[in-house]
Amino acid sequence: MVVANQKGGVGKTTTTVNLAASLALHGSRVLVIDLDPQGNASTALGIDHHAEVPSIYDVLVESKPLAEVVQPVVDVEGLFCAPATIDLAGAEIELVSLVARESRLQRAIQAYEQPLDYILIDCPPSLGLLTVNALVAGAEVLIPIQCEYYALEGLGQLLRNVDLVRGHLNPDLHVSTILLTMYDGRTRLASQVADEVRSHFGDEVLRTSIPRSVRISEAPSYGQTVLTYDPGSSGALSYLEAAREIALKGIGVSYDPTQAHIGAQTNPNMVEGIQ
Ligand code: ATP
Ligand code: MG
Repeated sequence: MVVANQKGGVGKTTTTVNLAASLALHGSRVLVIDLDPQGNASTALGIDHHAEVPSIYDVLVESKPLAEVVQPVVDVEGLFCAPATIDLAGAEIELVSLVARESRLQRAIQAYEQPLDYILIDCPPSLGLLTVNALVAGAEVLIPIQCEYYALEGLGQLLRNVDLVRGHLNPDLHVSTILLTMYDGRTRLASQVADEVRSHFGDEVLRTSIPRSVRISEAPSYGQTVLTYDPGSSGALSYLEAAREIALKGIGVSYDPTQAHIGAQTNPNMVEGIQ
């Protein structure tokens, strides 16, 4: 699953790591691939990613096997991470002259032999070759949308890129999931944006939205996901619920919001206090 949106700061990384942890806590084996030179997903999962650490850069540019860079996440059984180091900033340019520059991540994943249930790829806020590699490698796209004004601006460009990659390099790629993030139910703007996104994308939008929560934003500074940092918080429950929706969708079972974790935000009109 490719977590992409070229707009910065919409919750791509937060969504990647917390969904991945939720799925792993449900018993799945999950690999997070950090494809952003900022390395935020690696930080949030407590994975060392200083310049000498074997990383996804080595996989993409030096053709190192993915298995040689993957590290287990300490706090969460079944969760693994391929970290990004700062070298990856140069990869956008270095990849240009390499053979099969768009499909290097796809090849690396195909050669990875460890059993996995999910791979989540955290993309940088751009539509360059790193994101294209993710789109070529992935089966589906998850777009986090921040419930703010301008939320939909620029999305057309991402959708056109998905179409282009589907047309030329990855015929099964599709946008399967939209997740509303940083939802503040007290503001009319948030519910207006949510309504607009739902009317535009319909069933692809998860019923669960992620509330704005201080706990979610604090967790990375402890090298943790919110699932281990504060498991009972509304942010943690919302990500668990979003993961449940995704897992059910994956096996074609319809989701019943009345069975949601108490406290998870499945009703976009519910008022959510900031913790
Ligand atoms: P970039 O485009 O830079 O990679 P991003 O799309 O990955 O950004 P994040 O880094 O996940 O976005 O989130 C941006 C900021 O918003 C971070 O400081 C994060 O902690 C905060 N944040 C994300 N989701 C929430 C939330 N639900 N509640 C409060 N803060 C949040
Ligand atoms: Mg990010």
